[in-house]
Amino acid sequence: MRLVLLGPPGAGKGTLAAFLHKELDIAHVSTGDILREEMKNNTPLGQEVKQYVESGGLVPDKVVIKLIENKFSGGIVKKGYMLDGFPRTEVQAKDLDAILQKLNVPIDCVVYLKASLPVVIKRLTGRRICRTCGAIFHMTNNPPKKDGICDVCGGATYQRPDDKEETIKTRMNVYLESTKPVVDYYEAQGKLKKLDADKDSRAVQEDLMKIFHDARYLHKH
Ligand code: AMP
Repeated sequence: MRLVLLGPPGAGKGTLAAFLHKELDIAHVSTGDILREEMKNNTPLGQEVKQYVESGGLVPDKVVIKLIENKFSGGIVKKGYMLDGFPRTEVQAKDLDAILQKLNVPIDCVVYLKASLPVVIKRLTGRRICRTCGAIFHMTNNPPKKDGICDVCGGATYQRPDDKEETIKTRMNVYLESTKPVVDYYEAQGKLKKLDADKDSRAVQEDLMKIFHDARYLHKH
């Protein structure tokens, strides 16, 4: 299965990706996770992208496209893949198509998580992430059993700097301006499957598995 997960910040891409990774055993590629790891390790790339990420802006296309090229040339595609947070611009979408065409592993399906503004704001402001394993929690919907401690690995949880309310506004504007056209791009290719992502994560997972089942994607590759 070869997937792209699309949707505004807070639509639930990361949570759905974690579910699909377990369910389908396909590689999860999140450019946001890769960039945060680089920042955490204070690498030259981490230093280069820090300002963009923390202010809620987009990292330049050529930087993230290079990351994706490297990832795919490393052979992660054998079992299938799931891209989360990439592509975010039309330029990225077109370059991705070219990369995938060369490798002969085109996208089967683009999952569009459609979520409304009040829902995503509530999700993002309450979101907490484990610094060690990346597990995602929510202060009211899915709090860790012990405040500040990850249920999965015991690591410390934290709030992403770009999940503060003032930065969320910038990220939403960036999404509407740069990423929404990517939704139209895939719709024109006939690859888009829309999901109501205002629903809770279990319901979204069930809706998606039904779509996969009906479209017989689960039997491909
Ligand atoms: P995410 O974890 O997907 O919400 O990404 C966090 C931040 O990383 C974004 O707000 C951007 O600053 C940066 N980022 C992640 N993916 C991309 C991308 N495909 N293009 C440009 N910037 C990105």
